[in-house]
Amino acid sequence: MTTASHSDFDLIIAGGGMVGSALGCLVASQSPAVRVCVLEPHPPQPWSPEDAWGLRVSAISRASQAVLKHAGAWSFIASQRISGYSRMTVWEGDNPARNLTFSAEEVGAPELGHIVENSLVQSALRRRLEELPNASLLAAPLEGADAAPDEVVVMAGGYGAMAAKLLVGADGAGSATRNMMGLDTRGWSYRQRAVVATIRTELPHEDTAFQRFLPGGPIAFLPLCDGGISIVWSNTEDDAARLMELDEADFMLAVGKASDFVLGEIIHTSPRAAFPLRAQYATRYTAPRFALVGDAAHTVHPLAGQGVNLGFLDVAALAQVFLDAMDQGRDPGDSGCLRKYERWRKGENLAMLAAVDGIGRMYKIGTGPLPLLRRLGVDLLGRAPLAREIFIRRAMGLGGDIPRWAID
Ligand SMILES: Cc1cc2nc3c(=O)[nH]c(=O)nc-3n(C[C@H](O)[C@H](O)[C@H](O)COP(=O)(O)OP(=O)(O)OC[C@H]3O[C@@H](n4cnc5c(N)ncnc54)[C@H](O)[C@@H]3O)c2cc1C
Repeated sequence: MTTASHSDFDLIIAGGGMVGSALGCLVASQSPAVRVCVLEPHPPQPWSPEDAWGLRVSAISRASQAVLKHAGAWSFIASQRISGYSRMTVWEGDNPARNLTFSAEEVGAPELGHIVENSLVQSALRRRLEELPNASLLAAPLEGADAAPDEVVVMAGGYGAMAAKLLVGADGAGSATRNMMGLDTRGWSYRQRAVVATIRTELPHEDTAFQRFLPGGPIAFLPLCDGGISIVWSNTEDDAARLMELDEADFMLAVGKASDFVLGEIIHTSPRAAFPLRAQYATRYTAPRFALVGDAAHTVHPLAGQGVNLGFLDVAALAQVFLDAMDQGRDPGDSGCLRKYERWRKGENLAMLAAVDGIGRMYKIGTGPLPLLRRLGVDLLGRAPLAREIFIRRAMGLGGDIPRWAID
């Protein structure tokens, strides 16, 4: 890592969360000649194996694993604390026997994906950025940007003006960079909060992820490698507030009931945290010499565990478009490259956002003909091998037009 005494880069990334850091690592790893700068004003606490499980975890798809591998970060993550899951069981109502279960075996894969702490992913990516000689990591916010015909000039904290061929906004759902570059968003609040905690259950999880749909929102059990479980319980704002107030015993009982005691009683819980949930998408992903990735471009409900996985696919697609242009001696920040990236990712992300939103809405309706139709659909999907395979491969990030670095 250099400490940026020079001011010119090929690529400047505003935001060193999981997505922005992955883009920096992937581009700098795949092309040692390309100069990359990541701006991150709030360096995270380093992850330590001595720490309790982080409350923020992500179900990382096989495609995301490939992106992290090509970015040079997966081997560190895998050497620390990851939890492969090989089955997923989803149900609604009071009959867990009437469920939809998918397994990695059906598609000949060792697992469907891994549960990984967000702080571990970020630590691995930061370590990688620090070891790459062509990457700079600056603890500064992006404060201004001005696109000229041949370059974009960026103002960052105490570092003054820096020029690059392309600026990328990876600064999350509230992206200041997106606003600065004049890109609009549409979105809506789910009027829900996701309550997260790490729990222990009476029965072993056997590497299975569980999700039960309830009228207030779904509760997910994500299996951890030490036998614990990370829960994500999306609930109405009032009910989430009540859950946050409960003492430990009552909270564990509430989680047990909500999961229909699928793994028996809850015998331990960590402290809890709650996150407001909304859907949001940028109406355009690009402006002159500027592109959006990750939550800055799209924010989806966590019920399908797709948010950061979509972000990693953005990373792989943008890196491919950018580096192909560099290899061919073309300008990697010109409008042709940016159009190609936007065409590639915007439709796929919108389709996933709509699908996730639709599933959430569908499961909220408890009366009338819809619940019957829903159960019929679930039964049909349960019995149709081809449809099942397509569904599983999509969830693993292996459907659609897959960028080359999202393939192992
Ligand atoms: C409860 C919950 C559960 C989830 N579970 C899953 C899951 O299982 N699987 C999954 O795929 N997704 C999941 N997600 C979604 C996932 O967490 C997000 O999609 C992901 O964290 C977004 O990463 P990001 O890097 O795009 O944005 P962020 O994590 O928001 O990072 C943005 C970064 O930009 C920095 N920044 C801000 N302003 C500036 C500036 N002006 N200049 C420079 N930098 C700036 C910030 O400090 C931050 O580090 C979940 C989300 C929630 C809420």
